[in-house]
Amino acid sequence: MNRTITVLGATGSIGASTLDLIRRNPAQWQVDTLTAHSSAKELAKLAREFAVELAVVGDENALPALKEALEGSGIEVAGGPQALCDAARRPVDMTVAAIVGCAGLAPTMAAVERGGTIALANKEALVSAGEVMTGAVAKHGATILPTDSEHNAIFQCLAGGKIEDVARITLTASGGPFRTSGAAAINAATPKQAVAHPNWSMGAKISVDSATMMNKGLEYIEAHHLFPVGLDRLRIVVHPQSVIHSMVEYRDRSTLAQLGPSDMRVPIASCLAYPNRMETPLEPLDLASIGELTFEAPNEELFPATRIAREAIEAGGAAPAILNAANEVAVEAFLAGQIGFSRITAVAQATLERYDAPSPSNLEDVLAIDSEARIRSAEALESAPLV
Ligand code: NAD
Ligand code: MG
Repeated sequence: MNRTITVLGATGSIGASTLDLIRRNPAQWQVDTLTAHSSAKELAKLAREFAVELAVVGDENALPALKEALEGSGIEVAGGPQALCDAARRPVDMTVAAIVGCAGLAPTMAAVERGGTIALANKEALVSAGEVMTGAVAKHGATILPTDSEHNAIFQCLAGGKIEDVARITLTASGGPFRTSGAAAINAATPKQAVAHPNWSMGAKISVDSATMMNKGLEYIEAHHLFPVGLDRLRIVVHPQSVIHSMVEYRDRSTLAQLGPSDMRVPIASCLAYPNRMETPLEPLDLASIGELTFEAPNEELFPATRIAREAIEAGGAAPAILNAANEVAVEAFLAGQIGFSRITAVAQATLERYDAPSPSNLEDVLAIDSEARIRSAEALESAPLV
């Protein structure tokens, strides 16, 4: 069986994990398209290795470098945001949505509108678009395979169960690198400390989101859209070992959990092989050497992001898209050394308080809210109280 696949965001952390699995199973896959933002050389190298049909850079300025690097290869090249959407519209058996941030929304929606099967890592796209995306999935008969480890765990725990029998879904959170730090240390946290996640190796943006706990806030919203059991049935528990990736409790009080190594190749493999299974190069889970699995309630005093996200999805409408855009702007400013760690969530909160917009009813509305929220959060960056 030789299946065609496109990886949107091929040069990132999820992209690399996906291509690692494909590299180990070359007879199973034919890579159609790989995309990146601006790293033309890296993309060209992957494009040659996997003998793709098309390579696309989202940043048009990187197109000349991509053309040069792929000269004589026979591989088609393209650049710019529209080219990403055109690439996502090509007919393939699977699309891996692994661009970071709302930048991945339009290409992911293009794959949805084609009625494709999408392994969705790009949580920001679903958080921003919400019902606009789930509505399009239903309308076009697309399939979303949740790739985020928690959502993949829930998806696996729901296999064989009925969603109406679910009493509670519990998302586990590692707690990030500052789980045991005090307020003063958290305020003084540097980008280097924030991206050093204790259990997972990930891109910079999601690593900072894990440190603020906004990642779990976004995942709470993501879970609400993927598994519509109602917000009152969704909860978050901190589980520092990251062995249980999430749990589903049924109404008879039976709880199913999915366990595994903290390596994204496990959930990615589950999506690639779905509904079958494939091998991964990982060591078996050694529970005796792990020894202890512990749990604690999230500390929303120190890490307000999960509360802010919960309030945003309870408010609904444009709020989640505003929250996501503000968080992206604030994380970028933090990584650039422009604001302190605690201002990330302060900017998100301030932007939500300053900006309201009507509920989006289509992709253009979501993108317009995202753009405006970025402008408003840039203002909030200037004026949010210094913490
Ligand atoms: P990353 O920063 O390592 O990679 C991002 C990829 O997107 C790169 O290929 C980059 O070139 C591309 N990209 C960035 N900006 C772009 C733009 N404006 N236009 C087009 N392409 C662009 O990120 P990552 O850690 O691989 O995360 C990707 C997505 O998967 C995120 O939404 C993240 O939340 C989600 N996710 C990641 C992990 C993980 O372990 N890394 C786990 C769960 C979910
Ligand atoms: Mg996750």
